[in-house]
Amino acid sequence: MDKHYVGIDLGGTNIKGGVVTASGEVLHFESIETEVEGGRDHVLDRIGMLAGKVRDAAGLQPEQIAAVGIGSPGPLDTKRGIIHEAPNLPGWINLPLADEVRRRCGYPTFLENDANSAALAEAHVGAGKGTQCMIMLTLGTGIGGGIVLGGRVWHGADDIAAELGHVSVKYDGIPCNCGSIGCVEAYASATGVVRRARQAIEQGADSSLAGADDSLTCEQVFRAAAAGDRLAQQVVDDTAAYLGTAIGSLINIFNPDMIVLFGGMTNAGDQLLVPLRHEVRKRSFKIGADRCKIVCSRLGAEAGVIGAAVTAMQALQEQREA
Ligand code: ZN
Repeated sequence: MDKHYVGIDLGGTNIKGGVVTASGEVLHFESIETEVEGGRDHVLDRIGMLAGKVRDAAGLQPEQIAAVGIGSPGPLDTKRGIIHEAPNLPGWINLPLADEVRRRCGYPTFLENDANSAALAEAHVGAGKGTQCMIMLTLGTGIGGGIVLGGRVWHGADDIAAELGHVSVKYDGIPCNCGSIGCVEAYASATGVVRRARQAIEQGADSSLAGADDSLTCEQVFRAAAAGDRLAQQVVDDTAAYLGTAIGSLINIFNPDMIVLFGGMTNAGDQLLVPLRHEVRKRSFKIGADRCKIVCSRLGAEAGVIGAAVTAMQALQEQREA
């Protein structure tokens, strides 16, 4: 009988869990609140509980699960299953997360960075299926990334590869949370979009967004652009240019088959993609730009869970081969 895998996508607000088959099909998926305020052990107990709960809901026996994979915010040590620090999970410092979850659910447990997990899922069952070199950018409050080469996540020497939000697009740019300056995240993340829109409004530009209070969102800026607001259109075009600049460099370095964009901002579709592709062409070698498809993710909310399950599958396979 084929074994199945449990994938856990750990976030500061929700923990998503699912049972995934060896071919990447989700048999059961659900999301529970993280309840960070209950403390570290409480959250660990909830992860262990969710693993059993989704297995039971999928109608499986305990022995039908081969392993558990967890996609977690980092930085992490994926080989040792340790979470060094997680900004949304206060007090989670150098925590042996894989061991703690293994103890609670009884299955071999493996850890992967959350953005890498989403990229792995996309390369296995999503838009990037069949690619040899796929790069994903996750566009949210910040910008994350994942590089999948030959179906495997590229971790680099210290597990910190694919910090694609911190590709510099302006050598004398604004400060970034990472300590550097001019990172693409500082400009083209949802936070960066709102900051630039606000700045333009403060400088007196005429806009339907003028008078927007502190609750102005990235989505509102994109919606105003779609409705013809000039200021918002400029902000969106600049966002595409910043992203296109970073992606052009990635194409020159990796010569990827595909770049996948993931996250709420991709709802803008061609409004973002058309100027972005235009910028990429200006910034990369023609052969590489012709080759590389730039598309939006197909997987949505289940991506992290599928990727975590694929992580567990690959790790178990590696252990067997060793
Ligand atoms: Zn940075």
